Amino acid sequence: MDRLFSGMQPTQDAHIGNWLGAIRNWVALQDRYECLFCVVDLHALTVSFEAAKMPERVLNLAAAFLACGIDPAKSTVFVQSAVPEHAELTWLLACQTGLGVLERMTQFKDKSGRSPENVNAGLLFYPVLMAADVLAYKAGAVPVGEDQVQHLELAREIVRKFNRLYGETFPEPKAIVPEGSAKRILGLDGNAKMSKSRGNAVALVEEPDEIRRLVGGAFTDPEKKRRNDPGRPEVCNVFTLHGFFTDPARTRGIEADCRSGALGCVDCKRELAEGVVRGLEPIRTRYAAIRGDEAGLRKVLAAGASKARALARETLREVRERMGLREGGRIP
Ligand code: ATP
Ligand code: MG
Repeated sequence: MDRLFSGMQPTQDAHIGNWLGAIRNWVALQDRYECLFCVVDLHALTVSFEAAKMPERVLNLAAAFLACGIDPAKSTVFVQSAVPEHAELTWLLACQTGLGVLERMTQFKDKSGRSPENVNAGLLFYPVLMAADVLAYKAGAVPVGEDQVQHLELAREIVRKFNRLYGETFPEPKAIVPEGSAKRILGLDGNAKMSKSRGNAVALVEEPDEIRRLVGGAFTDPEKKRRNDPGRPEVCNVFTLHGFFTDPARTRGIEADCRSGALGCVDCKRELAEGVVRGLEPIRTRYAAIRGDEAGLRKVLAAGASKARALARETLREVRERMGLREGGRIP
C-alpha cells in the first residue's frame, strides 16, 4: 500500500471546510493507503498563539479526527512536535529551497498581509516544514484542499532537486483530491475561504443554537435583495452548502425555488442550519465521548508518535548520510 500523509493545524476548532475538504476524505482513504494523520502544532506557531491553550487545542483536534471516523487501528494519528525529525528535516530541506519561491507563495502573502505585525520566518518556512512532514515518511500521496496545492508543488520541486544533488531518496508526493470532495469551501462571509484564522467558520463541534445563529448570518447572493427577488444559486455559498447538508432531491427543489423567487434567503438559511445541525450531530456526540476520555486519547497519540518516529528516524538516518552528515562521534 502507498503511504499517505496529511495534517491539520490546531489553530482553532476544526470547521466544516476542514471536514468536507479534508477529514471526510481521509476517512475514506484509510482502507486504500497506509495513512499518517498529524496534528501539526509546529505549523500553528507561525501565527499568533497562546502557549497555555496549545495542549488543549492539540487534544481537541486529535479528538475531532477520531470523532469524524479516523481509526487509530488503521491509521497512525500523532502530534507533529512529538517527532522532532520534522524540524530537523525542515532545516536540511530549507537549504535546498530558494528564498524567492517562498516569498511568492500565496499563503505567505495572504497571512503576512493579514498580520503585518507578525511576519515571522516560520511563516515563510511553512511550506518547507510541510515538505518535511510528507518526506519524513516518504509519503507518495497527500490529500489537500486547493489552498495547499501550491505548497505540494514546491515539495515536489524540493524532491527533484534533492534527488538530483544527493541521489534518488524521496518519491515525488502527489496531491490527491478524492472524487466529490470540496476543494474550497467558502466562509460564512461567502467571499474568503473558510478558515480557522478568519473567524468565518462553523466549527464541527458547535452547539446547535450557535450553528443556527452563525448560518442565519451567512451571506447569500448579494443581488437577491428582497424575499421574492429571483436568486442565483450558482454564486450563493449557502446553496453550495446545501449540496453537502441537504438531500439531493430537496437541494434541486431549493435551486428551482431560489431562481423563481419562491424561496427567500432567511428560510433557505433556516433549512440549511437544520441540515448542518443534523449532519454534525453524530460527530458532536462521538467527540464528547472521545474528548471525555483524555487518558485514552493520550494513549492513541503516544502510540502514533512512536510508530511515526520509527519511520522518520530511518529517513533522517539516510538523509544525513546522503548529505555527508555522519552520526555524531562516528568518524567516516
Ligand atoms: P488556518 O486558517 O489556521 O490556516 P485552515 O482552516 O486553513 O486554518 P488548515 O489546518 O490550514 O486549516 O488546513 C487543514 C486542511 O484543511 C488542509 O488540507 C486544507 O487544504 C483543508 N482546508 C482548509 N480550509 C478549507 C476549506 N475552506 N475548504 C476545503 N478544504 C479546506
Ligand atoms: Mg490553512
